[in-house]
Amino acid sequence: MYRSLLLGLAGNSAAEALALRYGMRLGASRFVAGTTLGEALAAVKALNGKGIAVTLDHLGEGIRHLDEADGYMGAYLSLLQAMNREAVNGNVSLKPTQMGLALDPVSALDRIRAIVREAELHSLFVRLDMENSPYTTATIELVRQLHREGFSRVGTVIQAYLYRSAVDVKRLTVERINLRLVKGAYKESSSIAFAKRDDVDSNFKRLIKIRLDSGVYTGIATHDETIIDWTRSYAHRRSIPRSAYEFQMLYGIRTPLQESLAREGYTVRCYVPYGERWYPYFVRRLAERPANAAFVLRNMGRR
Ligand code: FAD
Repeated sequence: MYRSLLLGLAGNSAAEALALRYGMRLGASRFVAGTTLGEALAAVKALNGKGIAVTLDHLGEGIRHLDEADGYMGAYLSLLQAMNREAVNGNVSLKPTQMGLALDPVSALDRIRAIVREAELHSLFVRLDMENSPYTTATIELVRQLHREGFSRVGTVIQAYLYRSAVDVKRLTVERINLRLVKGAYKESSSIAFAKRDDVDSNFKRLIKIRLDSGVYTGIATHDETIIDWTRSYAHRRSIPRSAYEFQMLYGIRTPLQESLAREGYTVRCYVPYGERWYPYFVRRLAERPANAAFVLRNMGRR
């Protein structure tokens, strides 16, 4: 109920306008590294200094006009150039709808291709985040198309809550496509997605097994220590090298765990979002944990 209500608010523009009036004071700065690239790069330097890699997300999604998509493409090109200049240990994540997928899939592919081409110039990697289910097939097909064109530094995300995911993972593994596995952050119907946490967790482990057994590089993106411990012991039992996978977590969540895994020698990647359109991302983080809402209310009360 709480999750459903919050996820409904994530796409509400009136609620977004209201939240932006409060600005980062609402508590968003706990989860978002800043509104500018400069602020994000400062956060990245600190993380890299602790041995943690990053993936940078210039926030933006659900755009209304294609000129917004052009603006976001330009922002990603500048971001990749800055990462190269600053020798950042990291890659980038973007949302396909931010590049126009919902408005014009053909030009969205062109924009994403331009970003992937720039990334390849600097030996960097581009991850297409997975959004809600109307875009699952289209997102996977964008990545497959780019691989067919010879671009290998691009991958996507598979959500364990979707019934279809084992089939997708198997096919993308045969094609040796780099994947991030997650539980899934959107509101989906029980006709296409597991509703119970235990079922999502079992499917998550099933997907992790398929990938670790295959040796195709995989990001395991979760803050769930049970899943992390299970992955570590599965990999150990099967003698799967640490170079075949990495753990990924979000900026501001379970920071001590990120640091301790990195100290132990695991590759840890922190997802660092920044930009003006922080609201939908922030609300999804609130939806994941009721305690976060209390945190926001406390911040609203502050002068
Ligand atoms: P949970 O069982 O939800 O959480 C485990 C524990 O982690 C909780 O008990 C709590 O202590 C802590 N925790 C989890 N979330 C929060 C929070 N918001 N605030 C504070 N503590 C928290 N989803 C997509 O649908 N598409 C994507 O492309 C995508 N990319 C992601 C990239 C990364 C690097 C990560 C880490 C997540 C991504 N997600 C994505 C979100 C993911 O689907 C889950 O919604 C999110 O990770 C919460 O699930 P969990 O695996 O951490 O497990």
